[in-house]
Amino acid sequence: MTDLLLTGIGSLTTNDGPPIAGAVVAIADGIVTYAGKEGDAPSQGAGRRIDCEERAVIPGFVDAHTHLVFAGDRSDEFARRLSGEAYASIAAAGGGILSTVAATRSVPDEELFELARARALRMLAAGTTTLEVKSGYGLDLDTERRLLEVGRRLGEELPVTVKTTLLGAHAVPPEFATDREGYIDLLTEEMIPALCELADYCDVFVEQGVFEVEEARRIFTVAGRYGLRPRVHACQLSPGGGAKLAAELGAASADHLDHATSEDAAALAGADVAAVLLPGASYTLGGRHAPARMLWDAGCTVALATDCNPGTSYLEGMGLVISLAVVEMGLTPEEALWASTRGGALSLGLDDRGLLVPGARADIVVLDAPHPTHIPYRPATNLVWRVVSGGKVAVPD
Ligand SMILES: [Zn+2]
Repeated sequence: MTDLLLTGIGSLTTNDGPPIAGAVVAIADGIVTYAGKEGDAPSQGAGRRIDCEERAVIPGFVDAHTHLVFAGDRSDEFARRLSGEAYASIAAAGGGILSTVAATRSVPDEELFELARARALRMLAAGTTTLEVKSGYGLDLDTERRLLEVGRRLGEELPVTVKTTLLGAHAVPPEFATDREGYIDLLTEEMIPALCELADYCDVFVEQGVFEVEEARRIFTVAGRYGLRPRVHACQLSPGGGAKLAAELGAASADHLDHATSEDAAALAGADVAAVLLPGASYTLGGRHAPARMLWDAGCTVALATDCNPGTSYLEGMGLVISLAVVEMGLTPEEALWASTRGGALSLGLDDRGLLVPGARADIVVLDAPHPTHIPYRPATNLVWRVVSGGKVAVPD
């Protein structure tokens, strides 16, 4: 018995073969039961029908890298950078991540949830049905717990799937400024054991002046004992060992990779580590973009994500990300769409989504456009007409 039937689809992207014109998608119990040519569709029972009137249909976006839970904003810092000040000098003067840590620690739970909820709803309205949410603006046991709890609660209360990541190693907090060893001890001896039940993954910002490769290895080794697989902030601002560490540890993903080399790409592909690319951060910081074409051609599973955060990439939808991937990074529109859906899903170990085939979770976006190339072609317009999440119409609700 079909619960929901999408008819009159002008272009259906299944991520399992070429786009299909004149298609329908049938859904029962939250699962796709048919996706293909209208003429071949099995006879459908009664249920809700939506006539897509020749619009394009794609899988829901999977945003596999966000820092969604935070308070405050850093528009002042954005303006200072535009007038020539370097991010490193702003961070050294107490700006950057630590200014968001101060703002986030001071806000009560309910306010933190409401801020994150509003962002997640804007993401949903822009077609994102699955997202990863990192902590990392607490940097103490109590606040990191609150951030992960907010992430989990978003997944329980909103029509989105949420995976959570403990990013206690986002920066060294000010109270440990002269004792970074002490902070890593706190992370490995108290925070990871206490918070592992609230997280699916562990992340470390591996970068010169943030966390060194050997420090990251120590943190990830402990996290692994508590069941948390690595996702690694790697090679964002400078070349470094983050990508190779991710490959060595069999991480779920290496993220950013703006300075990744062909050796890094081969290592990631060989170890089946997803390359999660975040062009919003390069765009906002004016830095170089990740070598997406090289990573793709090396055989990496490439994913695209927003990196939504108040400092370096305050994006709440995938449209601009996909456009940057196409215009600046050398991916085709089809590849960028795959990376924003199936690539993200694979990086999160969610094999049931990012594609529209029988048996897949019914996370679906209907675009108010005849073809998905309109996403990168018209990046300043939210082209979402309907969002279906888990088989239910979520936008408009
Ligand atoms: Zn990030």
